[in-house]
Amino acid sequence: MCGVIAVSGTVSSAYEVFFGLMNLQHRGQDGAGILAVDASKKDRFHMQKGSGLVENVFSERSFQNLHGMAALGHTRYATVGRKDPNMLQPFLDFEAGLALAHNGNIVNYYDLRSELKTEGEGKVSCLSDSELMLRVIVNALAGRKNTSENIFDALSIAAKKLVGSYSAVCVTEAGDMFGFRDPNGIRPLVFGEKHHDNGQNEYAFASESVALEFLGFQNVSEVSAGEAVFVTHDGVVSRKIIAPPDFRPCMFEWVYFARVESEISNVMVYKARFQLGLLLAQQIKDLGIEADVVVPVPETSRIAGGAVAEALDLPFRELLIKNRYVNRTFILDDQQSRQEAIRRKLFPISAEFRDKRCLIVDDSIVRGNTAMQIVKLIKQAGAKEVILVSTCPPIAHPCYYGVDFPSEAELIASTRNEQEVAAELGADRVIFQTIEGLKEALTQKQLCTGCLTGEYPTNVSFGAEFQRQRLKDRHGTTEILC
Ligand code: SF4
Repeated sequence: MCGVIAVSGTVSSAYEVFFGLMNLQHRGQDGAGILAVDASKKDRFHMQKGSGLVENVFSERSFQNLHGMAALGHTRYATVGRKDPNMLQPFLDFEAGLALAHNGNIVNYYDLRSELKTEGEGKVSCLSDSELMLRVIVNALAGRKNTSENIFDALSIAAKKLVGSYSAVCVTEAGDMFGFRDPNGIRPLVFGEKHHDNGQNEYAFASESVALEFLGFQNVSEVSAGEAVFVTHDGVVSRKIIAPPDFRPCMFEWVYFARVESEISNVMVYKARFQLGLLLAQQIKDLGIEADVVVPVPETSRIAGGAVAEALDLPFRELLIKNRYVNRTFILDDQQSRQEAIRRKLFPISAEFRDKRCLIVDDSIVRGNTAMQIVKLIKQAGAKEVILVSTCPPIAHPCYYGVDFPSEAELIASTRNEQEVAAELGADRVIFQTIEGLKEALTQKQLCTGCLTGEYPTNVSFGAEFQRQRLKDRHGTTEILC
């Protein structure tokens, strides 16, 4: 999972990308990069990337070099090769005059890489699946110019080869810009425009609407599944379907990843989370469960927690206090650093838990690290009963599309039913959202629910090699990274 953004039509494009990235920081904290293109100069492309948070990678001085009428940026969330600076985006193919930033994961990366080598591609270092995707597109262009027609054609060819999730943005040496999305539209991508009084028009792509709205873009709309949108440097916009669409957006975007202010597929994340809470409250009522207080696990589950409390007519209390200077635990590297971070991250207001029956609402239970620690803290504080309520159904299978749900062995619900999960976590009871409830709350008939059901929208038979490399990476032995 990463954040991408591209802006064209202003001398401040790199600045706007920077502020856009600040609003996409939650999508990746491993690194960030910005590339700007100044078509008026011989030395056209300027790029800066580094590890860490956006505000640590860039300073005022960065923008002395990052100039031009188009720019793109990336915040990195790594599922493999977290510590490798070579994996940071954007990627640039200087000879082809194309730069790319990608959110997603190419499942058949290893097969495509071998294919390119067999074809005698000398330059296939392509340590990253995103870099490989750029190579596939450049090869499909076959030396033709980067016009909209040729790009659409090349993307159609590339889409037949690439399996997985990809929402990507590109800029060309001419200062043109384009964005495209895989046929299942697994990762989000939006497009917006800004019209100035002086007749100047700006255009932009971003992973989430919140980034474009912050920058003052209007008419923010989805890039459709399987669609490409091309914007020339002088503001001519053309759109084309590059692959037959079968829309299956990732349910976890609404549940956890996206900012609550964003809208995905015309559904506000806020509204979806509130609805998830209401449906859980109905389950709790139907089960005849009684409680004294509803406590959300900060930050993501606040909205759902509020809905649970409202529907059950119970007090809603923020009794787990987050140290905001500790990064999101889900994104951290290994089990040990995650547990350590949880310990530093959450503090209970102990006195308020004493003798209470507590409904603890969390967005999801993945490995169980956070939940186990929270249950322990609340029990130590003297709570009478701890019932964990998850807005997401049980996550029982890996994700091959860019979310760090690795092997089934690491997922607490892969082999356990609700009672067994509760016992493992030390809770009195665990209540999960149902898959039907999830679809109802997100108002989506078709979703990617691969990690819940094991049924994926694409062929994932290539995924075994990816899994193997991911596990090797955990143990510090990965040679090929993506
Ligand atoms: S497998 Fe799960 S996390 Fe991965 S894209 Fe599908 S719904 Fe999202």
